[in-house]
Amino acid sequence: MRKITIIGAGQSGLLMGIGLKKQGYDVTIITNRTGDEVYNGGILSSQAMFNAALDIERDFGLDFWDDECPPIEGISLTVAAPDGTKAINWAARLETGHANSVDQRVKMPAWMNEFERLGGKLIIDDVTIDSLEDIARDSDLVMVASGKGDIGKMFERDAAKSTFDKPMRALGLTYVKNMTPRPDHSAVCFNLIPGVGEYFSFPALTTTGPCDIMVFEGIPGGEMDCWGGVTSPEEHLEVSKTILEKFLPWEADRCHEIELTDDNGKLAGRFPPTIRNPVGRLPSGQIVLGLADSICLNDPITGQGSNNATKCTKIFFDSIIARGDQAFDEAWMQQTFDQFWDYAKFVVDWTNAFLLPPPPHVLQILGAAEEHPETAQKIVDGFNDPRDFFPWFMDPAAADEYLKKVAS
Ligand SMILES: Cc1cc2nc3c(=O)[nH]c(=O)nc-3n(C[C@H](O)[C@H](O)[C@H](O)COP(=O)(O)OP(=O)(O)OC[C@H]3O[C@@H](n4cnc5c(N)ncnc54)[C@H](O)[C@@H]3O)c2cc1C
Repeated sequence: MRKITIIGAGQSGLLMGIGLKKQGYDVTIITNRTGDEVYNGGILSSQAMFNAALDIERDFGLDFWDDECPPIEGISLTVAAPDGTKAINWAARLETGHANSVDQRVKMPAWMNEFERLGGKLIIDDVTIDSLEDIARDSDLVMVASGKGDIGKMFERDAAKSTFDKPMRALGLTYVKNMTPRPDHSAVCFNLIPGVGEYFSFPALTTTGPCDIMVFEGIPGGEMDCWGGVTSPEEHLEVSKTILEKFLPWEADRCHEIELTDDNGKLAGRFPPTIRNPVGRLPSGQIVLGLADSICLNDPITGQGSNNATKCTKIFFDSIIARGDQAFDEAWMQQTFDQFWDYAKFVVDWTNAFLLPPPPHVLQILGAAEEHPETAQKIVDGFNDPRDFFPWFMDPAAADEYLKKVAS
């Protein structure tokens, strides 16, 4: 059977490894942290996933937490006005099916166990370019699914596809218990603070049970870019509450009783969204294929990373199966990526648009959604498949036409 090695045991690496193992491939995953280290370590993501991506996990038999994880039933959007009131405010249920977020500290160790249970070989090692040479020599195909890991820099940055060359947001994550639920139904509560950044929260499942995740997206250099020097869990929680009290009093009202889920329930950082060439060439000339975030890294502002990683995995998986016994050569790698890019380019463009000040037509659409529930519905369901935002949300002329139709 064909021998496939995957570097990285994250969302894409494990999904791919388990999927291929189930098809009878000889699969090895090499990753740099044990399941215990992941479980007991710091949070990695807010990992909200919408139904189309969850369906892929279900198809792979990996929906272990569907019953246990609190569902995210909708999305609400609020634009804060300078006077501390709400300039725009609406919500809609996800008609495409609920979303959910299972802490990667819970998910990845469980998937590692599942991979080994199926007979997959899991090796703990920090892979370098040198060790990749040996691995590539010994495998029919190597996929690098290293997320934001440094080894991914072996894939050349694609300047034409990468809109930004620096971080566009200062990120903060806080996992908490005791947040007051929003009325009506659970939701990703998305708040836009013009000139400052964005904040959203939603229910999730973590190592200690159900929780809420707070995500802070501060414009670099702005008032929400405030995590420098914050080290202790207590300080992190305090800063999280202070931001809400200052900019989003209605969200602060839900947070009087919040506590961190655990001392590792906090994260701060920043990175530039980057698209890379999917084919990595080692010094010897051997080639490896990049998978998911290692070659298509988005800012978390639209919550698409794990979704995209899952959809990328499914496309690459199908392409591997379809390849049969033929060589995994450079042309096949490029073609496989191109199929993914036919989808991902829409995700990337739409996500990047949120990182710049919203143009007038977007503000008009967000405002129209308050009056027209069908517009709110269309926006909310677009998170499941961002291709649905084109062209009506992204193009001013198409937006104008859409808004006229809705108003008539
Ligand atoms: C703050 C934040 C919030 C986010 N929120 C969301 C959200 O709400 N919704 C969403 O869909 N996405 C979100 N994401 C993105 C999401 O977490 C990622 O897109 C997703 O995990 C990518 O999967 P992956 O398999 O490419 O990489 P990862 O899941 O990051 O896995 C990479 C793996 O590679 C391993 N590794 C790295 N280097 C090496 C090496 N040299 N040798 C061996 N192993 C190595 C790592 O240990 C890890 O196991 C968020 C990300 C961040 C940072």
